[in-house]
Amino acid sequence: MKVTEYIENANGNTLISFEVLPPLKGGGMKAIFDTLDPLMEFKPPFIDVTYHREEFIYVKKSTGYYEKTAIRKRPGTVGICASIMHRYGVDAVPHLICGGFTKEETENVLIDLNFLEIHNVLALRGDARKFDGKFIPEKGGHSFAIDMVKQVSNMNNGKYLDPNIENGEKTDFCIGIAGYPEKHFEAPNMDQDLAFAKEKVEAGANYIVTQMFFDNNYYFEYVEKCRAMGIDVPIIPGLKPLTKKYQLTSIPRLFYLNLPNELACALKKEDNAEARRQVGIEWCIHQSKELKAKGAPCLHYYTMGDVETIRTIAEGVF
Ligand code: FAD
Repeated sequence: MKVTEYIENANGNTLISFEVLPPLKGGGMKAIFDTLDPLMEFKPPFIDVTYHREEFIYVKKSTGYYEKTAIRKRPGTVGICASIMHRYGVDAVPHLICGGFTKEETENVLIDLNFLEIHNVLALRGDARKFDGKFIPEKGGHSFAIDMVKQVSNMNNGKYLDPNIENGEKTDFCIGIAGYPEKHFEAPNMDQDLAFAKEKVEAGANYIVTQMFFDNNYYFEYVEKCRAMGIDVPIIPGLKPLTKKYQLTSIPRLFYLNLPNELACALKKEDNAEARRQVGIEWCIHQSKELKAKGAPCLHYYTMGDVETIRTIAEGVF
């Protein structure tokens, strides 16, 4: 079933969903199952699986020189999605990124997903590769997420890249996109960022999942602004607990987010890891309860491998 159908069928009740990362190359499905097994009692109707572009590493050659080599450290998103659907009987939502893919490769992945009866995708641009400085699209690939949304929409209308394909099978993908309650860092301002989001919805996106935030007001204001602009699709808040001291600097640096002073001070004040974890859990439960009370369609938790913390939060909210 589609993410939007789950939301419609919930009749205003807040759903729960989780997001997992593929294991590092060489790892197996155990890491995914160890994360998801303890979370399935909360009955998530869908699980997201992230996608990771190739990265550059420097490999020392026999000559003594280093060679820049591209490797994909976390492959397997499509296979993991199929495996999750098979094991748990829930829907899986693969993240698809523009980076590293030609349009044809994207089309072929979408064909595989369609054959696997995976009918949800989160269409994203992806971030810049380390060492690139800025996002560089693949030659023959898409530059912005909207181009991928258009491609998926075209396939939903039976239109493939090859103009000779007539009466192509119409896929039936539900298309999610990313939203940024604190603005995407490259957007000149919030209005421009929202205008791009609106274009994606007009091009066929069916729902939005937000970047994490630690002050719910960002989410509420974001939803309000979207509605004022005529973006009427469901907006799912993405949530992650902040449980470690180093995250006080890494999260703002990596995700361009503000941390509420109250949270930052509470975390700093604690002198052991478990106490800090409790602060993060309580904060996230509080955020979740308020979002639920105010009618968020679904709470989407980034698990980041910390299943115990996410489980405690889910227990406190659902
Ligand atoms: P876009 O919509 O293409 O926007 C990128 C920037 O360009 C924005 O600043 C936007 O305002 C601007 N823009 C948009 N359209 C245009 C246009 N037509 N002309 C000019 N400017 C434009 N990354 C991964 O690599 N893998 C993942 O699995 C992944 N999952 C994510 C899940 C969620 C819920 C979120 C919020 C993010 C995720 N990301 C993931 C990160 C995401 O790929 C990055 O934030 C990326 O920098 C932007 O992606 P986007 O889809 O929002 O891009």
